[in-house]
Amino acid sequence: MQLLDGVLVSGHIKEQIKQEVQKWQAAGGKKPHLAAILVGNNPASEAYVGSKVKHCEELGFDSTLLRLPADITEAALIAEVERLNHDAAIDGILVQLPLPDHISPDSVINAIHPGKDVDGFHPISQGRMLLGQPTFLPATPYGIMLMLEYYKINTAGMHCVVIGRSNIVGTPMTILMSRATNPGNATVTMCHSRTRNLKELTLQADIIVAAIGRPRYVTAEMVKPGAIVIDVGINRIDDPTRKSGSRLVGDVDFDNVAPLCSYITPVPKGVGLMTICGLMKNTLLAAKMKETVPA
Ligand code: NDP
Repeated sequence: MQLLDGVLVSGHIKEQIKQEVQKWQAAGGKKPHLAAILVGNNPASEAYVGSKVKHCEELGFDSTLLRLPADITEAALIAEVERLNHDAAIDGILVQLPLPDHISPDSVINAIHPGKDVDGFHPISQGRMLLGQPTFLPATPYGIMLMLEYYKINTAGMHCVVIGRSNIVGTPMTILMSRATNPGNATVTMCHSRTRNLKELTLQADIIVAAIGRPRYVTAEMVKPGAIVIDVGINRIDDPTRKSGSRLVGDVDFDNVAPLCSYITPVPKGVGLMTICGLMKNTLLAAKMKETVPA
């Protein structure tokens, strides 16, 4: 079993990004600038946004964190997004999800200018991805593809079972894995909560991507020996042995599944770090494209 090490791979990619930013600036380009919008004070969202801002500093990007109250109206939030769309200093905009229940995430995402959609959630980005055109890929699936590429895993002809069909992880993952690229070129099965024979399907998988949001849901008896397992899940569970009283686990029962696998991502220090790489690569791309895609 080999660990797909998010610390190692993200470190390598971040070094590449840093160098590209320096080259871009030396050629007269300006620092990439990411604007993050955080609505309310959900602790997990605070942590994710904090980490993204910290990475901007580390990579030589500028960042702006816009904190907005949980009771902001949808119209006021969209007005903020539009203000950032028209701010020439801002290259990329991300709105941290989830949003409070009274706000439609679709309406807010649709308001982001596609040229600044560095999370890759806008319908134009997703449509271009579907058609295989150059675009901002959704950060998590993009990060997973970068990880497979780093380890030179040839996925052509493999059976990839993706569990989860969200617009931000499961669905784009099925599209990227089925494209005629490497990594990619896989035969893909998409599973969700209505899938009847999940175990039967996962047992046929050469690669399992688990994006479910249920702690340790994928167990050893669901995994074929030698399979590659990509664990996207981030779930907080109680753990009285920890000072904090809790810890993070993935959607895969790592301790029992890992010995069976050819490769597996840990949680934490796996896909989460790759998601940040996807976001940062998209932000650099947005900064470079701005010459041709005015806001
Ligand atoms: P969603 O809740 O949007 O989607 C979960 C998907 O899992 C749904 O499609 C759902 O099916 C499916 N599902 C739920 N229960 C089952 C089941 N018993 N059997 C099969 N499928 C099931 O979550 P996200 O896609 O946003 O995120 C998934 C996980 O990944 C979460 O733990 C999240 O925290 C984590 N995450 C991690 C990131 C990272 O950077 N590492 C980034 C983004 C998310 P249905 O559609 O039928 O409801």
